[in-house]
Amino acid sequence: GSATPTANKDLFKVNSPNVVYTDNEIRSKYTYRTTLVSETADGKFEATPKETVYDFKVDRKIPKTGMMLVGWGGNNGTTVTAGIIANRRGLVWETREGPRAANYYGSVIMGSTVKLGTNAKTSKDVNIPFHDILPMVHPNDLVIGGWDISGMNLAQAMDRAAVLEPTLKDQVKKEMASMVPLPSIYYPDFIAANQEDRADNILEGSKACMEHVEQIRKDIRNFKEANNLDKVIVQWTANTERFAELIPGINDTAENLLKAIENGHEEVAPSTLFAVACILEGVPFINGSPQNTFVPGAIELAEKHNAFIGGDDFKSGQTKMKSALVDFLISAGIKLTSIASYNHLGNNDGKNLSSQKQFRSKEISKSNVVDDMVKANSILYKKGEHPDHTVVIKYMPAVGDNKRALDEYYAEIFMGGHQTISIFNVCEDSLLASPLIIDLVVVAEMMTRIQWKAHSSDGATTKDFKNFHSVLSILSFMLKAPLTPPGTPVINALAKQRSALINIFKACVGLEPENDMTLEHKLF
Ligand code: NAD
Repeated sequence: GSATPTANKDLFKVNSPNVVYTDNEIRSKYTYRTTLVSETADGKFEATPKETVYDFKVDRKIPKTGMMLVGWGGNNGTTVTAGIIANRRGLVWETREGPRAANYYGSVIMGSTVKLGTNAKTSKDVNIPFHDILPMVHPNDLVIGGWDISGMNLAQAMDRAAVLEPTLKDQVKKEMASMVPLPSIYYPDFIAANQEDRADNILEGSKACMEHVEQIRKDIRNFKEANNLDKVIVQWTANTERFAELIPGINDTAENLLKAIENGHEEVAPSTLFAVACILEGVPFINGSPQNTFVPGAIELAEKHNAFIGGDDFKSGQTKMKSALVDFLISAGIKLTSIASYNHLGNNDGKNLSSQKQFRSKEISKSNVVDDMVKANSILYKKGEHPDHTVVIKYMPAVGDNKRALDEYYAEIFMGGHQTISIFNVCEDSLLASPLIIDLVVVAEMMTRIQWKAHSSDGATTKDFKNFHSVLSILSFMLKAPLTPPGTPVINALAKQRSALINIFKACVGLEPENDMTLEHKLF
């Protein structure tokens, strides 16, 4: 559909000399407080509080935004599309458990709240929808399109996915039947051979070339024009590819990568071509699968063009649980010694992952998610010490999209004792991933409208407003293997990822991070 953006109605205004609202902007002056630590000669530390003053500028005009999905006809693509249509139209459908209504459960932006402050009269917490912290795009207003190597229209593809109730499908079928994915880039070497029979909607040519990049750019421009859009965000939710080999001279720099594409080098993946097309087009590109789409040359290209990128791999079920549970164990002072993660699933993702090279991409993405938490605790873990961690994935057609994730966490507790936590998690895969696709688009779009400037006493630090770094690590909450600006740390702990997202958004309206001290309830 072609909805008009919901009018911007601020739920709150900040009453502070540091915050100014104009018709088009919110401007805030924000003091960022950190602690600098230096080691002293006797092996101890000196901690010095540090303050940096930033100006933030938020563009208040909510743009008409398009979401283009690569792999639109897959389980995630069809489920998120039907879900948005159902929400837009306020649909209700019958199930054997009674009527169900459209919602955005599982979206941190649409389904969770944030503490704004304490009520001046009652001293009770005032919580507001996350979506209302800043003037964000409403998912109901997203115009949806995309590509797929399978030419099925979205209604047929939704049936193939076997995710949603027939009573819901009936109500969105007509609209979805009119949606047909654009032909896509297909290099058979990158996805499992068992996907070949669905590849009937492909661009000519089976290795990298500039024509493919240009075609994708043209598709984006056409979509934008046809739907009268201000902005487009592109997201990869297509099959997991194998890792591309990192080859010096081929994908190590921006220049070499572009040359490799021109020369038709066989180590350039379709997902990297999409990324390059989006970067050159100045359109944010997010990778929802585990492969190394963002080879060093692609990251450098994004930096050069000031284009936003984010990845990798949606953090939906098992890993989301893991990044909360391991954080809890280690921060409680319990020594996690092993994690055994076993999955079986029966959807097309599972079929693709039953092929060794594609499984390997997923295995790597799933394996590194506890590193930061382990490394931060030198009491429990000696330098280089690490819990054992094994990941198994099996294809079991019968369970379809209802992935089973069985995890055993084995830990050492007080005085040589053991704690074993065993979790059986039925992750309705596409119903968990779809809200993440929405959050990634909404947050990425928001980041295109936030700029910053640093102050110093002599006013020399940053003269002009700038964007955030090209690599949007602020998206980490939604991603299993978060991409961060080169040389910066990766944060996997779920609570920290959420705090970063909330507190950066709050800073943009001049509000302090929520510190949970609640002294107002302790000191009186
Ligand atoms: P799916 O197999 O149902 O859908 C993928 C779609 O991509 C298919 O329709 C396929 O035809 C299409 N495709 C393949 N190569 C393409 C290309 N080069 N260009 C355009 N389209 C192409 O899978 P899904 O369940 O929707 O998952 C999508 C991706 O998201 C997978 O890589 C999966 O690993 C990843 N992922 C999913 C979840 C989750 O569902 N919970 C979590 C994390 C990551």
